[in-house]
Amino acid sequence: MSEDRVADSLFEPEGDLVEEMEAFRCFLKSKGYRVTKEREAIAESILKNHDHFDVDELFLSLRPKTPVSKASIYRAIPLMKESGLLAEVYLENGHMHYERVYGREHHSHLRCLNCHRIFEFSAPELAQVEKRISRQEGFKSEGHKFEIWGLCAACQTEKR
Ligand SMILES: [Zn+2]
Ligand SMILES: [Zn+2]
Repeated sequence: MSEDRVADSLFEPEGDLVEEMEAFRCFLKSKGYRVTKEREAIAESILKNHDHFDVDELFLSLRPKTPVSKASIYRAIPLMKESGLLAEVYLENGHMHYERVYGREHHSHLRCLNCHRIFEFSAPELAQVEKRISRQEGFKSEGHKFEIWGLCAACQTEKR
């Protein structure tokens, strides 16, 4: 990790990444998966990413330093999900978009259909709905996803 990386991760001191990478390696070992350079590079790139991204974007972000094939990324994704590092967020034009979840609070998304920007929000009442419905249906829930799609404020002004 070079010093010049510190500036673009204001919300995350460098120490966190080391800790998170260690947690990821522990997960791999505990499951009997191999700790490979490729898997480490993919995990590191995900941990540094504060946005929502698809496989193509992940591929491009890795390329300058550690060239990893798209096939390896596709194979690594289920592992990353299982480790609690990564979650699926939304599907757009047949491409799944992901985000890092490790160390982040649960949140929901607003997705603009025009500019494709993603906005995050958190609404504690959604957790209550999850609990209530699950109780009613005798369901053991493990999470929920809530997405609002439409036009963001900027795009509505533009279209007028
Ligand atoms: Zn928009
Ligand atoms: Zn998000």
